[in-house]
Amino acid sequence: MEEEEIQEAVVEADSEEGDKMADQNTNLCIRCGKQRVVVKTEKEYVNSSLVYTTITSCPDDTCQGFVNVMLDKEKLLREKIVENHEREKLIREKRMRRGRIRRKLLENNHSIK
Ligand SMILES: [Zn+2]
Repeated sequence: MEEEEIQEAVVEADSEEGDKMADQNTNLCIRCGKQRVVVKTEKEYVNSSLVYTTITSCPDDTCQGFVNVMLDKEKLLREKIVENHEREKLIREKRMRRGRIRRKLLENNHSIK
């Protein structure tokens, strides 16, 4: 019984690795599933280490156009989420600060009484 569980876990780990490998080797278009072609490779330094960024595009120009729109929308959405998150964080911090002050005031009132 126990042995079976271990085997299952190993299989799961293997398949996860396989997915990662597939991601690196094959870059398929998210819209039509065609193999994407490398447009250019960019070199840039990130934290003083050289990083290669491969820009790929769908072989179908029309499809790539749709994908660009999709990615732009996603990017905007993500930016909005981050924006909202930052705003919420600020509001929460303000509330916390206010709460602390109120508690301090209460403490002071108690000590006066
Ligand atoms: Zn495509």
